[in-house]
Amino acid sequence: MKRDKPGKEDVSPALCDWCGAVISAGAELYSMALDSSVIHASNPRFDGRRFLTACTHEHLAALDEHYRRRPFVDEELWAGKIARAMDSTAEPLTLADLVDATGLSREQVERSMAWLEAQIHRLRHR
Ligand SMILES: [Zn+2]
Repeated sequence: MKRDKPGKEDVSPALCDWCGAVISAGAELYSMALDSSVIHASNPRFDGRRFLTACTHEHLAALDEHYRRRPFVDEELWAGKIARAMDSTAEPLTLADLVDATGLSREQVERSMAWLEAQIHRLRHR
C-alpha cells in the first residue's frame, strides 16, 4: 500500500527532552518550566514557558531541576518579544512601534536592548 505524506507534526513520535529517546504514544510525561528564553510563535500568553516531554519520571525530574536552576532573566524574555515583533514586519520599527507591538513599557524595551548589547559584547570578547 502506498502511504500518503501527512504533515510532519501528525506522525512524529514524541522524543524525551532529556535523553532523546522515542516515547511510545500514550507513555509521554509532561511538565512545564519557566524559561525566559522561550517565546511562543504567536501567543504572548505562552512566553517564558517551556513545555517538557519525558520518557520516565526520573527524566522529567531531571528536566524540571535543569530549568529550575536556569536564571529567569526578564530582559531576555523581553528581547524575545521584541524579536517576534520585528519578525512580523519588514518595516523598521521605532521605539514607540515596539512598545505598541510588544506590550512592554518604553523602559523595558530600552533595558532589553541594553541587555542584548551586553550579551553581544560578552560573546565577542570571550
Ligand atoms: Zn528520557
